[in-house]
Amino acid sequence: MRIREIVKAFESYKVVEGSYRIWLDKNESPFDLPEEIKNEIFEEVKRIPLNRYPHITADPLREKIAEFLGFEKGNIIIGNGSDEIISHLLKLFEGGYIVISSPTFGMYDFFAKLEGIDLVDVPLDERFKLQNVENYAENAKTIFICSPNNPTGNTQEREKIINVLETGAPVVLDEAYIEFAESSNVDLVNEYDNLIVLRTFSKAFGLAGIRVGYAVASEEIINYLLRIKPPFSLNALSMKIAELMLDHYDVIKQNINYIIKERNRIYKEFKDYAYPSEANFLLMQLNAYEFLLEKGIVVRNLSGRLSNHIRVTIGKKDENDELIKVLKEFIERF
Ligand code: PMP
Repeated sequence: MRIREIVKAFESYKVVEGSYRIWLDKNESPFDLPEEIKNEIFEEVKRIPLNRYPHITADPLREKIAEFLGFEKGNIIIGNGSDEIISHLLKLFEGGYIVISSPTFGMYDFFAKLEGIDLVDVPLDERFKLQNVENYAENAKTIFICSPNNPTGNTQEREKIINVLETGAPVVLDEAYIEFAESSNVDLVNEYDNLIVLRTFSKAFGLAGIRVGYAVASEEIINYLLRIKPPFSLNALSMKIAELMLDHYDVIKQNINYIIKERNRIYKEFKDYAYPSEANFLLMQLNAYEFLLEKGIVVRNLSGRLSNHIRVTIGKKDENDELIKVLKEFIERF
């Protein structure tokens, strides 16, 4: 069975469960919503008729996001997490293969394998910058660029992204962590019909639990995506919560600033081991996964090209203090 091979290819990823003290493994926000906002949400949620299907294309939320970003509703599609949108994007374009640049987010590879789509890997260079992906554009179904990249944390230069777009191949620019970075390239959607930008409410917005992601692209691409997507994949409650959170961006912005400050503090402590990051996590060349786990701290253990590396999500100050203490202990011992 083909599925057996797919499962085997992803065997190294293990979901950690248990009663650990500190969770810094999934690039989540450490901040739940403040109580007042939760109460406001519950009041709104009470009014939703649960016997009815949600809006078929999530238009109220599409409108809200469009206004937030300065686009039209027609440029936005909502998914059950941006993961869902990745799976649909792979079905959209012709071409022989998809192009990724490893090490990068595993779901591009996962969905390609699931769909039986060939994959060309043009690995990032030693500074984690994109190499000659343009050379593979001609026959590419889609070229995936993740910026800031998971798990390395760095961004790709705008000029390079433009060069790739100039090939005319469909380009998916994954900006899941963009709120923690200096600048976005979402505006390029106005110039390039072959660009699809992916965003999510799971990271900076602190809403990983409600599963809402979105894509920004030309109306033509969005219309095709809307036709192949299961109509009611996003539930009415999640839709409403995401909408309300866009009215509270001031709270989100405060959290983003906090995370960036903490990220820079941790980076300074481990400059010799950590890579510069524009995301809510740091990649470190430290084989400290087991050591941290024994002390109750869960981080992401990386395998493959980045063996002996860990990816550490930025947490609250007290969690980060504990992480710094334990990592220093690890460095002294080994
Ligand atoms: N893209 C990247 C780069 C990610 O790291 C993640 C989550 N880990 C996603 C997309 C998916 O996010 P979600 O499905 O929660 O929107």
